[in-house]
Amino acid sequence: MSIEEEEDAPLINSDQPNFFSTERNLNSIMGRFLNPDKQRMSKWILDMPRIWRLYDRVRGIALSRDRFQFIFKYEEDLQEVLKTGVWTQDDWGVVMERWVEDLPPNYLMFLLIWLRLRNIPVNHYTQATIKSIAKCVGQVIEFPFDENEAQSKDYVRIRILFDVSKGLRNSKEIQLPNGSMVKIGIDYERIRKRCFQCQRLTHEKPRCPYLPSVASISITLLLVYHLISALVV
Ligand SMILES: [Zn+2]
Repeated sequence: MSIEEEEDAPLINSDQPNFFSTERNLNSIMGRFLNPDKQRMSKWILDMPRIWRLYDRVRGIALSRDRFQFIFKYEEDLQEVLKTGVWTQDDWGVVMERWVEDLPPNYLMFLLIWLRLRNIPVNHYTQATIKSIAKCVGQVIEFPFDENEAQSKDYVRIRILFDVSKGLRNSKEIQLPNGSMVKIGIDYERIRKRCFQCQRLTHEKPRCPYLPSVASISITLLLVYHLISALVV
């Protein structure tokens, strides 16, 4: 066997307890940056214990350019951080979830976000209407709304689980039983930067894979030109 072949053989990791970090991971969260090109891992790891006001009760580990882990001393601190839902580094989103031993395929693919829905039609200002609108954005998780209580804000808050592979919608048009159309405005709490082309949280507009290419714009212009020429003749 050559040296290269020998080196290529995988290193078998021991099953001895000191080779496992499972015990330590029980009180930890895993996370990933949504736009790692614009986010700084070392700053995130060093700044967050102070921003969370947890100081020596938590420590971060940079696992890769975009993945990290935070290990907490106390369960309640971990819960408090997750409860906030959206955190950002350099204004771009960060997804975090509690550590689990076997990571499911959709792990770190969802953000817990509070929506603010505006312009709900007065004749349909009900829990059922509001929930059905929010479902167009994601799975409804929390909805502290009572139809019989005063509503002091000009929007309704509802918390959803948002699939970060999708773009955020800024509005949703609904058709009422009388046939009229209403546009519901949607805002997202604590979300800062996003792509202004496709509304995704993973890149800036200049890097958007959904931007119409220069080639397709040229072809469209050429078709329009031929169409106009044909009409003129
Ligand atoms: Zn985009």
